[in-house]
Order: sequence, then C-alpha cells, then structure tokens
Amino acid sequence: MTLPAVFTSLRCLDHEPGSAHPESPERLRAVHRAVRAEDPTALREAEPALAEALERVHPARYLDHLATLASSGGGMLDYDTFMSSASFEAARAAAGAALAAVHHAHEGRGHAFAAIRPPGHHALRETAMGFCFLANAVIAARQAQALGRHRILIVDWDVHHGNGTQALVERDPSVRFVSLHQWPLYPGTGAASERGVGNVFNIPQPPGLPPAQYVADLRQGIASALAGWKPDLVVISAGYDSMQGDPLAGFTLEPSHYPDLIESLRSSCPGVPIVGVMEGGYVPERLAAGVLATLKALI
Ligand SMILES: [Zn+2]
Repeated sequence: MTLPAVFTSLRCLDHEPGSAHPESPERLRAVHRAVRAEDPTALREAEPALAEALERVHPARYLDHLATLASSGGGMLDYDTFMSSASFEAARAAAGAALAAVHHAHEGRGHAFAAIRPPGHHALRETAMGFCFLANAVIAARQAQALGRHRILIVDWDVHHGNGTQALVERDPSVRFVSLHQWPLYPGTGAASERGVGNVFNIPQPPGLPPAQYVADLRQGIASALAGWKPDLVVISAGYDSMQGDPLAGFTLEPSHYPDLIESLRSSCPGVPIVGVMEGGYVPERLAAGVLATLKALI
C-alpha cells in the first residue's frame, strides 16, 4: 500500500534521555520499521529546522541555552526531561520534519506525517518539560501561516493535555486548539473552562474512557472549533498514549480508532491539508500500529 509522505530524521534517534526513560529511541525505530514494511518509499529524511522557523515560537536565548547545554554534555531540564549531547540536534531535526510535512501538504502533494521524537506539546516558550524541548506543532502552524495559510486548527489527541501548545496559541484567534486528554493527569492543565480567547476547546475525561465515547467527544470538540470557522490547514498533535495498555495513562483506544478520528477531520474540513506531528505513545509496537493506522487513513 502506498502511504502518505512520512518525514523523519535519523538524528531523532540520537536523543538519549536515559535507559529507563519511557521516551526511548526504540519508539521511533518501531515506527520506522512499520512504515518501511508497508511502503519502503514513504519515509523521507528531512533537514533540521532553521533558526528562523524556531524563533517564531521560541526566543533565541532559549535555543542558545539548549545548544550550550547539549554541547557541554547535556543535563536535566526538569525531573523527567533530560538532555544528552545530541538532544538539541534531535529536537531541531524533529521540528525540521514537521516543517517539511507542512511544506509537502501546503504544496498540494497530499496529507503528511512527521514521525519524530522528542515530542513537543508540553514545551513552553522558554521552558522544556514533559519530555519536550521544542513546540513542534506550533512551529508547524507558524510555518503554515508564513506560507499564507492563515487559520490553523490544531487537534491534540495525545492522552496528556498539550499545555505548551495551548500557552503558545491561547491569545491568538488565528489558531484554534482542540485537546481531548485524561484528567486529572500530568501536567494538570486543560480544564474545559480554559478557553483562551474563545479559541481553546479542552475536553478533559477520566481514565477508562470507552473508545466510542472518545471518538464522539473528539468529534464534538472539532465541530465546536469549526463552528463558523474554516481552517486553511490542520495540524494533529498525534500522540498514541491514549491507547489501551500505555504505561503512562488509562485511556483505551485501539489502532482501529484512529481512522475514525481522521475521517471526522476529513469530513468536517474537506480539501484542507492535514499534517500529523508525532507526540507520545510509550509501547513502541503499539505506537507503530497507531501511526500506521493513521497513515492509512490519510491516504
Ligand atoms: Zn502524552
């Protein structure tokens, strides 16, 4: 089966948060294997993000701080976010793959996916947290806007609330943000009452949420965000830790549910390019199965 374009970088494998850390290189290796087995032509190596694209979201002093820390061997940025010497280059590579996916989709060459790590949706403007250094989904959204796609819908189906994404867009009505997440759970944000400037649509739900309810709730969130508003491009913060058996959370999705989510987006935003940006998912083979199901639905 011919899959949509999957942008990635081998440099993303070089980020080493520690052998016991759930955000392991094996996650991305499993995704690479699954994509290659289905369509050996789908994977494309992207160039690392340039400073111009990163600085639309993060100030240069923060990027310099990360680069300096990496060049001195790395270190701890918060209690679960560790940097190795290659981590900044891995993060730049991850953002670069997200940017390449935006360009591909913007140019009308089809929906696209960025198979990347480290993830990004917890990263704040000047703060790394929750395994995340750079806010890949927002960097992707800002790139799309620089290309002339003004209204961006970001749908975050990672099990955790995308607090970084929300913080970076919540005062900007050109971006709408929908997040369905387990609550309470890390990082503790994402109440339904957090509405930004009317552009934030949070759907917090307890663990054990049945898949049919998950799909219905996310569909409703997307419908609310799209009421009277049509995006020029959709970015998915595509985390797969909402799946049954994930060690970090308690939702119950199976790979077969991701096509339902994609179909909901495709039918509510016909003709609008979709860019998936990989976030969490901590059982490598399950993550790979979820990504593959998503890719098949994006064909
Ligand atoms: Zn997550």
